[in-house]
Order: sequence, then C-alpha cells, then structure tokens
Amino acid sequence: MSATVGYHGYYHASAECWSVYTEVLGVEYSDAVLWGQVHQLTVDTYAVQHAGGPHPDKSVGIHLSGLHLVLDRGVHPPLVPPMLQRLAAAIEIWPHFPPPESDRHITVWDVAVAASPQDHADTVRRWARQVWAAWTPYHANIAALVIRHASPHGQTRV
Ligand SMILES: [Zn+2]
Repeated sequence: MSATVGYHGYYHASAECWSVYTEVLGVEYSDAVLWGQVHQLTVDTYAVQHAGGPHPDKSVGIHLSGLHLVLDRGVHPPLVPPMLQRLAAAIEIWPHFPPPESDRHITVWDVAVAASPQDHADTVRRWARQVWAAWTPYHANIAALVIRHASPHGQTRV
C-alpha cells in the first residue's frame, strides 16, 4: 500500500479516517465484484469528501470528474481511470471549487461496517450520490471540463 501513503499528506483527512479508508480499499482489492462495481466510486467519493485544506484543486477536480462520469453519464466505473488520466494530462490549471459543508452524513466509516459485499456496494453508491449532490453548484462546470477534455465518446449508457 506504499503507493497510497503519500496521499495522506494532502487529503484533508485524519490519520484515523485514512486508516478506515485503507481497510475499505483492502476489502475491494480482494473482491472482484466490488472492484468492478464500486471501487472507482469509493476512490472518487473519498477524495471529494476530503477536499479542502492542503488538498490540491487538481485532485479534487479529477475526482469530481470521476463522479460525474459514473453518476451523470453512466460510464462503467472500470472505464473511468483512463478518462481521468486524459483530463489530468490536458488541464494545466484547475479551477478551485470551495467544498460544500453538507456532504458529511454518510462517510467511509459506514462502508467499513457494511454487513455484506452487497451492503458495501449499496452504501458506496448512496455515499457517492450524497457527496455528488452536495457539489451540485459545480456540476455544470465539471461537465464542461469533461466534455471539452475527456469526452466519453460511445462509452456512456445514457
Ligand atoms: Zn474522513
């Protein structure tokens, strides 16, 4: 897990919360269905919920774009990372989106205590929709960035 340790330096997360997150990632790494269905949502939702403080605008913007692709465009989560890589390469200066206050009802802690893989997946989806809804004032900005720099082409289901 050493590749992810560095993130803790700039995510706006406590060490305790970060360790719960790494536990949740461990569960997803070891379950192929969870990996395919919700892992990308977990990564993007956790990052966006930890915007603020030292968290760079680029990271927040990329993970918001991931939520947009899955939740608004219906992109299958495993197809999202290459699109986010294209965005990361294409956009040099990211806009700053001040984080909303109201996205804290569901957290990674709720995912960590899920009773089954199905409950885990359902909780991640509820968590992702809650966080994405809290950022509604920026949905149009994010959609415009994605359309301009990383259009999903034929990969949407909408
Ligand atoms: Zn946290």
